[in-house]
Amino acid sequence: MSTTQGLSQIQSGEIFSQLTPHDHEQLVFCQDKETGLKAIIAIHNTVLGPGLGGTRIWNYSNEADAINDALRLSRGMTYKAAISGLNLGGAKAVIIGDSKTIKTEALMRKFGRFVENLHGKYITAEDVNTTTMDMEYVHMETSHVVGLPESMGGGGDPSPVTAYGTYMGMKAAANKVWGTDSLNGKKIAVQGVGKVGGYLLSYLHKEGAKLFITDINDEMLAKYSKDFGATVVYGEEIFSLDVDVFAPCAMGAVLNTDHINKLKCKVIAGAANNQLEDENVHGPMLLEKGITYVPDFLINAGGLINVYQEHIGYNRETAMRKTEHIYNIALEVMKTSSAKNIHTQKIATELAEKRINDILRVQSTY
Ligand code: NAD
Repeated sequence: MSTTQGLSQIQSGEIFSQLTPHDHEQLVFCQDKETGLKAIIAIHNTVLGPGLGGTRIWNYSNEADAINDALRLSRGMTYKAAISGLNLGGAKAVIIGDSKTIKTEALMRKFGRFVENLHGKYITAEDVNTTTMDMEYVHMETSHVVGLPESMGGGGDPSPVTAYGTYMGMKAAANKVWGTDSLNGKKIAVQGVGKVGGYLLSYLHKEGAKLFITDINDEMLAKYSKDFGATVVYGEEIFSLDVDVFAPCAMGAVLNTDHINKLKCKVIAGAANNQLEDENVHGPMLLEKGITYVPDFLINAGGLINVYQEHIGYNRETAMRKTEHIYNIALEVMKTSSAKNIHTQKIATELAEKRINDILRVQSTY
């Protein structure tokens, strides 16, 4: 949707028409003049449990974009929790503004108050431009927050667990495509070597993969090229490399028509959210090109599994063990995809929806 379209929809009061297509339950607007807080909490589906999803601070160019982002991301959380077997629903919050200038203790605590007012229907956590420190502030006003530091009984940074899950999903894809889950000698291109990408590189390096990396942060590129002997490439070059696996670990929507046409890999397995620009176009396109794609919301669920564990009583070992299970689910999704000749994102979505509907029926008797 274009900026003008989105704004005119909001101006003409068409907010509900944005909730109905994917059956979102609730959209909450939170405003506080003193702190400058403008937050939107989107709750997609709470059949399986309270809606859990991080709080993102982003300088959206208009309110329509912020609403769209919250709605889109909250739906992704529903599927991520459902397919991972967690008793959680899907939700997400966005705070509008430049995190470098608007973020204060007061703003985060005020946001915490709004979260508290939802009485646990929404549980927040860290996301883009929010940290465990911010969650400590939120926690001063509400108990409905996870992603707290280990010193406070929390699970700390979820990125290592997300990376482990991504590694498991990649190994499952290797098993499906090459008949062995070993990544030894495989050429793997990683786009984005931040928190998750960095931990992923260390697993891949340990296994003897040949690494290619790109990022917009030169410092990180220099570090990983030195630590793991990774070959550095820049910008669009990452898409056309002659590699076995492509791992998008930076931003969303990188799997568009132009990029998919350039890809030479057999497997796409990375941690970024919302990788397919349009799942109805680019999911089938990957299937047709013979590229095995591990659905993003399945492969990157380790972070959610980690914070869920925090919600029910944190134990790192249990979080890692449950994350390891991504391997089995991914393999099942890929096998079903091959058998039915339907793209993996659709198969994974159907699996998640099936669980939600099954549990809905379980809850239908007293
Ligand atoms: P991060 O910010 O630590 O790392 C992202 C990296 O991508 C940064 O190093 C950044 O410089 C780089 N980057 C940004 N734009 C780029 C571009 N155009 N080209 C190349 N590199 C670019 O974030 P993260 O926590 O590592 O998360 C990575 C991805 O995984 C994100 O899409 C995030 O939503 C997703 N994810 C993360 C977690 C988690 O536990 N951290 C969980 C689920 C999903």
